[in-house]
Amino acid sequence: MERQAVKKAREAFLSGRTRALEFRLQQLTALQKMIAERQTEIATALKQDINRSQYDTPLLELIGLENDISLAIAKLAEWAAPRPVERNLLTIRDEVYIQPEPLGVVLIIGAWNYPWALTLSPLVGAIAAGNAAVVKPSELSECSSLLLRALLPRYLDQDLYPVVTGGVSETQELLKQRFDHVFYTGSGSVGRLVMEAASRHLTPVTLELGGKSPCYIDKDCDLRVACRRITWGKFTNCGQTCIAPDYILCEASIQGKVVDGIRQTLLEFYGADPKCSADYGRIINPRHFNRVMNLMEGYTAVLGGQSDASQRYIAPTVLKDVPPHSRMMQEEIFGPVLPIVTVSDMDEAIRFVNEREKPLALYIFCSDKLAVKKMIEETTSGGVTVNDVMMHYTLSSLPFGGVGQSGMGSYHGKHTFDRLSHMRACLVRSLGMESFNLARYPPQDRQRARRVRMALRSPMIDFSKRTFVWAVAASVVAFGLFVTLLVILLIASGLNCTCWYWQGFYN
Ligand code: NAD
Repeated sequence: MERQAVKKAREAFLSGRTRALEFRLQQLTALQKMIAERQTEIATALKQDINRSQYDTPLLELIGLENDISLAIAKLAEWAAPRPVERNLLTIRDEVYIQPEPLGVVLIIGAWNYPWALTLSPLVGAIAAGNAAVVKPSELSECSSLLLRALLPRYLDQDLYPVVTGGVSETQELLKQRFDHVFYTGSGSVGRLVMEAASRHLTPVTLELGGKSPCYIDKDCDLRVACRRITWGKFTNCGQTCIAPDYILCEASIQGKVVDGIRQTLLEFYGADPKCSADYGRIINPRHFNRVMNLMEGYTAVLGGQSDASQRYIAPTVLKDVPPHSRMMQEEIFGPVLPIVTVSDMDEAIRFVNEREKPLALYIFCSDKLAVKKMIEETTSGGVTVNDVMMHYTLSSLPFGGVGQSGMGSYHGKHTFDRLSHMRACLVRSLGMESFNLARYPPQDRQRARRVRMALRSPMIDFSKRTFVWAVAASVVAFGLFVTLLVILLIASGLNCTCWYWQGFYN
């Protein structure tokens, strides 16, 4: 089944039909139609998978996806067009450009926490770039996975974009096949297996992984607003968001106020009993439920802490004064538990972040712009949002992805198109002007070698850039001024001669 799907996708790709931009636009429009028409079914599947509120699904998954598709439709011609680049003296008369080309067949392995956005967003880029794509949704979000398998072939080309469902063995079988790119979203441990399997075919990979995303709260900020934004980011989707703030770093003097702020916000968001709130989700399956419960062992929660295994419910939980080297601070929580670690100041927070693996996201709540700049400059992470959480994800102009252990390669908007394209270097010359080339041919001598060196070391000229247009315009204006001045001088000297003549006549 898996092998057959890949074979069909490869044959369909080789038919060449994805080369035409009209074809890609048609597929993207069909995907857009699918999302517009199937919103209710998608929301129902997510309610069953993860108890997601029907209002959260458009907000958290579908609007961003629709924006991604609209952008790709609007910009495809521009993205796919040849991109002229700088030339030197030797190539000044040539056509020099980068041509984005389809890679071939892409394997997209999706995650279960946002099964539509994290599977279809890479697919949008794959279609736009002219690839075929085998889509493997996560088996953990089963209802979404089955719905995707039923829907996608009704809207898209069935051979080019097959959906393969199943678990570990199906994914392993897929990974034995040869692809031109593997785009994986999930944990680092499976990411390693994906990379290992891809290396057997020398296939490039994009790994969208996770990790512990720190959230630093400075004492110099509006704690009420900070706590509301952090509470939203942490407990949305029951904490199962790769860029959710994993833990808080703050000074001991504000820890109590932070806890109070989160308590108040939780009451506003989910009422006195979050278990009864339609807006509060559930843990995806018993394995993940037990994993999060094990992590909480030995702690006394200052907020929450209640659970119900039969519903895979864990209350929004906050832990105070968590030791920096405890197990809670070693692995990604990926659940509704928010530990607070106290630090003496921002410098210690920076050291704390830098001593650990590079995170997928970093959040800084602080009103002092210089301090914010310092923290950004002295740390690293896949992305950073200041005075809010997760919002950098929503901008398709920003590349989304990790660094180090939080992933490799980034996507969203044009970044996905570029990621899933081959950037072909193109230099088109004529057979004329051969005299310019003679210097590089043997037999060489000192003079020829000097000429080649001069030509090759000549400055690069960007004919496509505004600066070049300005330089040409400035030269034309300067030349015009020069000619005008010359004419004025000539006329003036002519008048002088005439004056001298008449002066001489009268004298
Ligand atoms: P996972 O990594 O276990 O599973 C993801 C996919 O890999 C599934 O389709 C599954 O079938 C497959 N898989 C699992 N075990 C496999 C194996 N042994 N061999 C081959 N394939 C296998 O997913 P998870 O751990 O439940 O996901 C949570 C992690 O994903 C968190 O770390 C989270 O931060 C991360 N994540 C990252 C992003 C992002 O955009 N960076 C988004 C969502 C989740």
